[in-house]
Amino acid sequence: MPSFDPADIQVPSAHFIDGRLRPAPAVLDIARPSDGAVYAGLPLGDATLVDEAVESAWRAFKRSDWASRPPRERARAMRRWADLVEAETERLAALEALGSTRPIDQAVSWDVPYTAEGIRFFAEFADKHGGEVAATARDSFGMQVAEPIGVIGAIVPWNFPLSQTCWKVGPALAAGNAVVLKPSELTPFSAVRLAQLAVEAGIPPGILNVIQGDGPATGDALCRHPKIGKVTFTGSTATGSAIMQACAQSGPKAATLELGGKSPQLVFADAVDLDRTIRTVAASITANAGQVCVAGSRLLVERALLEPVIERIGRLFDALRPGRTWESGTTLAPIVSARQLERIDEIVTRARAAGAECLSGGGVYDAIEGGHYYRPTLLAVNDASNPAVREEIFGPVLSIQAFDDEEEAFALAEHETYGLAAGVHTADLGRALRAVRRIEAGTVWINRYGRSDDYILPTGGYKRSGIGKDLGREAYLANLRYKSVLIDIAAS
Ligand code: NAD
Repeated sequence: MPSFDPADIQVPSAHFIDGRLRPAPAVLDIARPSDGAVYAGLPLGDATLVDEAVESAWRAFKRSDWASRPPRERARAMRRWADLVEAETERLAALEALGSTRPIDQAVSWDVPYTAEGIRFFAEFADKHGGEVAATARDSFGMQVAEPIGVIGAIVPWNFPLSQTCWKVGPALAAGNAVVLKPSELTPFSAVRLAQLAVEAGIPPGILNVIQGDGPATGDALCRHPKIGKVTFTGSTATGSAIMQACAQSGPKAATLELGGKSPQLVFADAVDLDRTIRTVAASITANAGQVCVAGSRLLVERALLEPVIERIGRLFDALRPGRTWESGTTLAPIVSARQLERIDEIVTRARAAGAECLSGGGVYDAIEGGHYYRPTLLAVNDASNPAVREEIFGPVLSIQAFDDEEEAFALAEHETYGLAAGVHTADLGRALRAVRRIEAGTVWINRYGRSDDYILPTGGYKRSGIGKDLGREAYLANLRYKSVLIDIAAS
């Protein structure tokens, strides 16, 4: 898609409850990361609004036919929804790109089609998952029936607003639940359009609601609402802990948590194709300007390769082109907010003070007036306690450490807190599989990095990177509860 003019984009600045836009006075200014300009105002939900949305979802769950609709028809409605999303690719992509970190080229070629495809993927489970018949005594017949949970509270971050929404809403709706979704207050609008399209596709009003608001007030009230059956969350580890606490105090109720990471990439001297490997490594920390949960932010390189790797990564970093997200050709995304930009710079400053050597980049990038950009940065680190190695930066900052042998590489790969993902680049199959066994991470990529193929494989973290899984069959199953039924069949 060519560049677009932000003035042409209509922003649905409202909640979406019971199948209708629910306007409310705007309270919060919403700015564009690309140039800092305020382009909309956002209403902030409070406990009363959360109650209205959850009650609407509860009513739709109980009274509409969504949960009881023949699963094939539920799947059909979701496929229609995916078709509407796809048919609106340009409009949705522009809405996504305008106020987020997603450049328009990527929003068109990836975010929107990936979201549509995800809806289709989860729709397929609706009619392909049955209950189970249990082996019981001769005089009884036992079965386990899968049922939707009820109303799911979904809370998502700002880094991939549409696709993260789909990861949560897709499996929940396919399983017959109703959802109240709270997008990030930094990227609140594309989810509203997505929900409008769901209603147009024949998903009953009230089955998918969107409430706008911040975390501590709106998000917390959503987690604590008594009619929420389960919470599914993606965001930082600190917020995940707060949500778990809210779920415990108001329930207990279950929570799926997809949290932060500090993922290592191990490059051995026998890497299959060094050029390709280095491009993969660089892309894993510069895609979305490093604002990716699975960003490969810790590079571990066999010492013999250190010089060529540093030199080539520097060249790849320098070739990136910062731009406004509505301009085609932008390859370095902005950082989501001034606050996040400051945070990145503050960690890099501390890392350097603690001995990290800056080999490339390092510092705020004054690329576009008013915009928030950070120079892709490579930091050489010798000490595993350096902030560049320990802290999730969520920006285009890559630490690099050398290792001398496999054992040292595996030891360095371990992180005390996080275990979201890892990449291993080697031609030695045995070594790759030894790495799979040794590294504590929810995903290990071998000779590639960062793709969740066709939604098939579940994704989620070990350690403090999360509890439960998104994607795959697991995501669908996590939106069900099971009822055991035992029937007396003894002849009387
Ligand atoms: P965040 O934790 O600040 O916010 C995420 C969401 O939680 C937002 O909608 C926010 O409003 C809400 N929230 C904040 N405090 C809350 C509270 N007390 N109760 C309820 N809701 C609350 O995260 P972020 O800055 O938006 O996103 C970046 C983080 O997300 C990074 O740590 C990143 O690693 C993580 N992330 C993880 C995955 C994954 O799949 N593991 C994917 C994307 C992002």
